[in-house]
Amino acid sequence: MTPAAGADAALIEGVLAGDRRALAKAITLVESSRRDQQDRGQTLIEALLPHTGRSLRIGVSGVPGVGKSTFIESLGLHIIGQGHRLAVLAVDPTSSLSGGAILGDKTRMQGLARAPAAFIRPSPAGACPGGVAARTREAMLLCEAAGFDVVIVETMGVGQAETAVARMTDLLVLLQLPLAGDGLQALKKGILELADLIIINKADLAPAAAAAARQTLEDALTILRPASPHWQPPVLMLSARDGGAVAAVWSQIERYRELQCRGGEFERRRRSQALDWMWHLIEERLRADFRAHPAVGALLPDLTRAVSSGTLSPTLAATRLLTLAQASRSPAAAPPGAAVGAPDPDGPRCDP
Ligand code: GDP
Repeated sequence: MTPAAGADAALIEGVLAGDRRALAKAITLVESSRRDQQDRGQTLIEALLPHTGRSLRIGVSGVPGVGKSTFIESLGLHIIGQGHRLAVLAVDPTSSLSGGAILGDKTRMQGLARAPAAFIRPSPAGACPGGVAARTREAMLLCEAAGFDVVIVETMGVGQAETAVARMTDLLVLLQLPLAGDGLQALKKGILELADLIIINKADLAPAAAAAARQTLEDALTILRPASPHWQPPVLMLSARDGGAVAAVWSQIERYRELQCRGGEFERRRRSQALDWMWHLIEERLRADFRAHPAVGALLPDLTRAVSSGTLSPTLAATRLLTLAQASRSPAAAPPGAAVGAPDPDGPRCDP
């Protein structure tokens, strides 16, 4: 056994035993930009895969300042108070641009950070092969293998992050501010369709505005076709600072899980996410192989310039590049890696 293989066997054991340091180390490997470490990370994921899939995966989204960390802290403390083990992860779409990480600030979620039953993992800055979603999804699998039975994935209400998070979680909680027109903003961005639970936070600051926002959102939701036949997304008013108020949110989440499990929707969503994920990985790998192709790489800058200056049509450029890549493709080229965040084999569990 090589030293790395020996260390990895110990890491696997550590993760399965719920050891937080082993878990943190394993996540660091899958997040690494070094190829050798990534390969080790993938070996870990493959070995731990049979132990994944058993958590309730909750996405939490909302614009910066809406109260996500306050909400996750309150809800998280309630969840661990119920005897669960909770992991909190972040998808930070801006980290590679600004260098900031949404969970990076140590002052956030202080209570949870101290709780032995909670594990908080900041989103690292910088680009990663496969993107932030790949990194977070694999971190989520590792947390599940370490026995965390509730995983919260936090993201900011910007860009495509909500879609990515909705695609890896069992339900998406959308936090909104009690401002006039805020509901319409969510509608415009098409986020409302993704939400399974909508919370108007900071209702204590402006109760009348919060009630109005709730009405607007409820009206909008009656027009939208619900994503699940068993669930009409409720709109709740909340003050996330009031730790006791989150009990009602947790009850709704538990009701959601129960109804979705009973209707078979929970499992269907997981299965469709697994297929989605497979295609995502195939597309990522094909794109990476295409870009790494020497002949493509040699021609790409010229064709990019020609297309952007309007002297070559995008269709012609794409055809030329694809033909080049296909003509010299080695038949021995490795197929897309099966272990890379492969679909959870044993599906969801409805009983924790
Ligand atoms: P995030 O950027 O979405 O994570 O937002 P934070 O949780 O950091 O909250 C931003 C600010 O709003 C902080 O000063 C919080 O204390 C405050 N805040 C969060 N929730 C509430 C609430 O329900 N009521 C009031 N009044 N303030 C809140």
